[in-house]
Amino acid sequence: MPRQFFVGGNFKMNPIDRATEASLVGGLNKATLDPTTEVVIAPPAIYLISVKASVRPDVAVSAQNLYPKDSGAFTGEISPKQLVDAGIPWVILGHSERRTIFHESSEFVAQKVRAALDSGLKVILCIGETLQQRESGETGAVNEAQLKPVIAAIKTAEWKNIVIAYEPVWAIGTGKVATSTRAQDTQAEIRAVIRKSVSATVADEVRIIYGGSVTANNCKELATQPDVDGFLVGGACLKPEFANIVNARL
Ligand code: PEP
Repeated sequence: MPRQFFVGGNFKMNPIDRATEASLVGGLNKATLDPTTEVVIAPPAIYLISVKASVRPDVAVSAQNLYPKDSGAFTGEISPKQLVDAGIPWVILGHSERRTIFHESSEFVAQKVRAALDSGLKVILCIGETLQQRESGETGAVNEAQLKPVIAAIKTAEWKNIVIAYEPVWAIGTGKVATSTRAQDTQAEIRAVIRKSVSATVADEVRIIYGGSVTANNCKELATQPDVDGFLVGGACLKPEFANIVNARL
């Protein structure tokens, strides 16, 4: 079965006010979106419930993070159960900003993935190498090392609830998008890791999306690549061109 094209919009710590949130959601609600693309948007936690209430029903909502406990003395954190209670079906985990700014290890990301799946959430799992790692030829090893604790933490059948977002750190928010060949080659390599370490069926079925400076201008070529099953979009998801990215395969 062909893998369904998937486009996520990561708002990060935007918008800065409710009026901007309303106009972003309003714009998306009016846009023509390819009905064959699965679309998920991830606003900041404070806007999850209002975005969920106002966004069109064919666009799902994702959190940008969670803490891997049900409840308790974890000031400032949000639990997977709370997300489920709020009707939020997805969560982004392992984003490079969490890994670098908040020092999240791959083992901690795996604990979060485990907790998310235990509560019935679906996960957009981000992995990717820094510029220095790319330049020293470590891209494959870095991606595999980031995947390994997750592979160890989850069962084969649970991969249907995971989308892998390959996001080279050097491409995030820099305007330096990966060439379609580089994205394809790296994502084929990631799929090979899944084939070797999980199963051939999961490798064939899991969606591997690309993230890092995706725009309306570069999405179409990237979308022609066989192992690019969609995108995770940061900056451009706050603009009307997000609809063009959703429609990259039209
Ligand atoms: C992201 O933050 O996940 C991302 C891909 O950002 P941008 O599209 O702005 O590079």
